[in-house]
Amino acid sequence: STNVEQREFQAETRQLLDLMIHSIYSNKDTFLRELISNASDALDKLRLESFRNKDLDVDTSDLHVELEVDKDARTLTVRDNGIGMNRDEVVDLIGTLAKSGTGELRQKLREAKDAAASEELIGQFGIGFYSSFMVADKVTLVTRKAGEKTGTRWESSGESTYTIAEVDDAPQGTSVVLHLKPEDAEDHLFDYTSQWKLEEIVKKYSDFIAWPIRMEVSRTTKSEDGTDEVTFETKTLNSQKALWARSKDEVSEEEYTDFYKHIAHAWDEPLEVIPLKAEGTFEYQALLFIPEHAPFDLFARERRTGVQLYVKRVFIMDDCEDLVPEYLRFVKGVVDAQDLSLNVSREILQQDRQIRAIRRRLTKKVLATVKDMAAKEPEKYTKFWREFGRVVKEGLISDTDNRDTLLAISSFDSTASEEEQTTLAGYVERMKDGQDAIYYLTGESRQLLESSPHMEAFRDKGIEVLLLTDPVDEMWVTSVPEFEGKRFQSIAKGDVDLGTEDEKKAAEAEREEKEKEFGDLLSWMKETLDEQVKDVRLSSRLTSSPACIVGDTFSMSPALERMYKASGQ
Ligand code: ADP
Ligand code: MG
Repeated sequence: STNVEQREFQAETRQLLDLMIHSIYSNKDTFLRELISNASDALDKLRLESFRNKDLDVDTSDLHVELEVDKDARTLTVRDNGIGMNRDEVVDLIGTLAKSGTGELRQKLREAKDAAASEELIGQFGIGFYSSFMVADKVTLVTRKAGEKTGTRWESSGESTYTIAEVDDAPQGTSVVLHLKPEDAEDHLFDYTSQWKLEEIVKKYSDFIAWPIRMEVSRTTKSEDGTDEVTFETKTLNSQKALWARSKDEVSEEEYTDFYKHIAHAWDEPLEVIPLKAEGTFEYQALLFIPEHAPFDLFARERRTGVQLYVKRVFIMDDCEDLVPEYLRFVKGVVDAQDLSLNVSREILQQDRQIRAIRRRLTKKVLATVKDMAAKEPEKYTKFWREFGRVVKEGLISDTDNRDTLLAISSFDSTASEEEQTTLAGYVERMKDGQDAIYYLTGESRQLLESSPHMEAFRDKGIEVLLLTDPVDEMWVTSVPEFEGKRFQSIAKGDVDLGTEDEKKAAEAEREEKEKEFGDLLSWMKETLDEQVKDVRLSSRLTSSPACIVGDTFSMSPALERMYKASGQ
């Protein structure tokens, strides 16, 4: 090699590597899943690139992943003849923790109290390539990008530095050589030079990978004169069956889980698996997952969606945002369409009737699944809503077609219970006689809302109030007109009528009386506060506070005003 350069890892990468090296993560086998997953992605990318770029001079007739063991040197190599990486990509993708959300991971790692807590974080964030360092004390990656002449060699022992160098004779694609840790040598549980062990791991985690995963295996037979004869053959370890093409009862829960981990680059489990098939004019199959945990970057501006598009089993693109609405961006999975061209681009997809039809169907199916979950598995639903409710509520604004279903599956904090959230149906059921509106108050936290003077009269009368604390609540609650004929009414805006007709009349008479009595005071206050307020009124809504500030029926609430200010408007 020429041009060897030594570089330092960034601090957070180093921290993560350190965690890997000293990992007590019980499931070290998963490093192989991560490496095979990367190899498979690289093969997908190369096939696609060769479809699109006819000038790319590469042989794609035998795309595959290969495992190779050297027992004496104690190395395991994972090799692919996929797209490969150029030098800059190696530096960006392998040498740095390029993933969005790294900052948050770093923060959480700092807060993590012990090794076990850190390991759990690894599970949540996923570390892909770096998981190699759970089993290796040195990793050598050699890669050459399809269409380029020079290759790159990256090497590190997972401490503070790595080296990077040019290589002239690298085959196209990527090979990752793991120099296995000596301390695992005696432990058959971690014997990653054993063909049985490797075969078992591939079967377990990577069986569905569409590309063949090959390994040279030895076979011992007795020859005619009674001596052992060892022969070698290349074996394909995985069955390569596309999971989404198989019927649900043919696929085990583990298979679904491993597939989910592969396509979602996730380390958690799916909360719900949603297979889907359409026959007829537009033929397609889909396999969707609702994750168990919300990703840390769910609200990041550049956050991508998680559904991949295949056309006739050929991977076309990640993060196909036209397949699910933005408010379902946490849904992961694949859609395999039969009648699209392999050359489809994102621009074409936006206009495509078939894609729009698929999107409508997927949306309805996901929402129906959640509705079903709410009815049959309330605990699971509660978990779902805790993780994703804030995002799903965005749909109340953007997706008027599904608004009724969305309202039906939404839950909110309420004065009715400290612990449990309520559905709107639950609220309506508890409404007082004569109550014609669903009352709510928006603000930053439950605690703030509960101590608001606006709450007093409602608390006294035992009228339930929804406590809406997510920023998105401000938006939907003013754009959704009603639920089951009951309008949404902020208790902080305009006049709120409480009580029956008679009570209201009596209160009105009393107010007029009082207004006369306090007329001078009121007009004095109005003059004095001229610039600050629009009106000064006597109120029946306070029971213990002397005064409160009320918004106009159509004015922005303080929280919304803050939100606009924060976003620079
Ligand atoms: P992730 O797969 O979730 O993106 P990884 O840490 O596993 O994260 O990999 C980081 C990136 O490095 C990948 O996104 C890919 O761009 C690149 N990469 C890793 N392995 C390979 C490979 N075998 N061939 C080509 N690129 C790879
Ligand atoms: Mg990966």
